[in-house]
Amino acid sequence: MLSMFEVDWRTPHLWRKTSATRTAASALAGDISTDVVVVGGGFTGLAAALGARDSGARVVVLEGREIGSAASGRNNGLVISHHSKAAPSEFEAAFGKVHGERFNRLVADAAGVAFGLMQRFGIDAHQVQEGWLQPAHSETTLARAKQFYTEWKAFGAIVSWLDRDEVSERIGSPYLGGWVVHNSGHINPFAMAIGLAGALEREGVRIFENSRGEQLERVASGWRIRTASGSVTAPEVVLATNALTGDIWPGLKRTLIPFKVFQAATDPLPEDVRARILVGNPAVSDMRADMRYFHYDRDHRLVSGGTHTVWFDEADRGRAKVASRLGQAFLALGGPPPVKEYWHGTFAVVPDRKPRLYRLAPGLVFGGVYSGRGVALALNLGQEIGRWAAGRRRDQDMPLPVTTMKPVPFHPIAVQVANRMHGWNRYQDRREERRS
Ligand SMILES: Cc1cc2nc3c(=O)[nH]c(=O)nc-3n(C[C@H](O)[C@H](O)[C@H](O)COP(=O)(O)OP(=O)(O)OC[C@H]3O[C@@H](n4cnc5c(N)ncnc54)[C@H](O)[C@@H]3O)c2cc1C
Repeated sequence: MLSMFEVDWRTPHLWRKTSATRTAASALAGDISTDVVVVGGGFTGLAAALGARDSGARVVVLEGREIGSAASGRNNGLVISHHSKAAPSEFEAAFGKVHGERFNRLVADAAGVAFGLMQRFGIDAHQVQEGWLQPAHSETTLARAKQFYTEWKAFGAIVSWLDRDEVSERIGSPYLGGWVVHNSGHINPFAMAIGLAGALEREGVRIFENSRGEQLERVASGWRIRTASGSVTAPEVVLATNALTGDIWPGLKRTLIPFKVFQAATDPLPEDVRARILVGNPAVSDMRADMRYFHYDRDHRLVSGGTHTVWFDEADRGRAKVASRLGQAFLALGGPPPVKEYWHGTFAVVPDRKPRLYRLAPGLVFGGVYSGRGVALALNLGQEIGRWAAGRRRDQDMPLPVTTMKPVPFHPIAVQVANRMHGWNRYQDRREERRS
């Protein structure tokens, strides 16, 4: 029986069905040693492996299931250079001037870095770098969007403002205004995950799949991580286990909240309809508490998603919700479109929505937790984490403060509350729209 946050990851989903096939690497067998071990083969772990390898380290990746089987291969595919619901000034206030500016720079560059990796390694992730739009549906969110735009522009990011007519025409749905981040876009995330894994293997990184790190122990030369069929010893260990963090390090899983969301996609849309929806093929996510987000996949399906408060009959209800929401949002669809593809995944959130870098012990670090904005960021921050583990960065050089673990207060309750907020979010959106 799967826990609420686990996925039946062998069941093919849209991204997997439309990607090349990858033969899983073999499981770890026997005892080996290396310089850096990365536990977790999502975007954070793969990028960390790259950062360490580029720094000259010998690197081993242990992935408990298969590459791309968790959030990194199952997400919506939006590659976004913007914080999760925060303005650059709010990161400076929280992290201080030095780390705030460094982290803002990392985020501003993140989408460019992500697309740059695809170029560097010739990865076909169905990438489209035609910008990301964040439109506002109410007067309150319009003011917030203007703040984001103004601050990022002052920071030097390539962004533009769109007025009511421009944004509504571009998206094909009525909004009050919005801003565009031009270095951003969308991908097939599963194709990216397996493409990056293949590139790492060619760079000499050893990847073991179906190799869950079960136990960590201190040894004279650093750390030994045991899996069911072997062990790796190394002076430096990176835990990049995100929402699926288990008991590998005491207390770590209580520092993040797993949050479950679903994705769904329409059948491919005809050209005359596409000419009026998401003109120019951008990525979009709006500012509703129950966020609406969409982009086209390679075959012209509209890919969107949402969440449930309770997960009975999840696939049929998810398809129906997405169809009805798209039908409402886009008049050009002429009503709810056919939606067949459905899947779900789990990402990690924290109440302050700030990513985490923990030094758990000498030679042992954890990094990640992106509160739903992790595609671009993990591919950039992950590389920094790898350089850090390989000794190329000191704690104080990192783009965000390195801390000890920050447990989420009342963790079991926080997990339930976070995953039951959907009705409240929708109520808030309706109230705000009535006011505007
Ligand atoms: C449905 C969905 C939609 C999303 N949409 C977007 C989006 O459009 N844009 C965006 O920016 N972000 C989005 N996100 C968030 C984004 O996908 C994540 O923030 C990002 O992929 C996190 O990467 P990660 O490598 O840290 O974690 P993961 O991809 O979750 O990888 C962690 C890996 O660690 C492995 N692992 C765990 N424990 C062990 C162990 N003990 N031993 C070995 N391996 C272990 C897991 O099997 C897993 O493969 C979405 C997430 C979901 C679920």
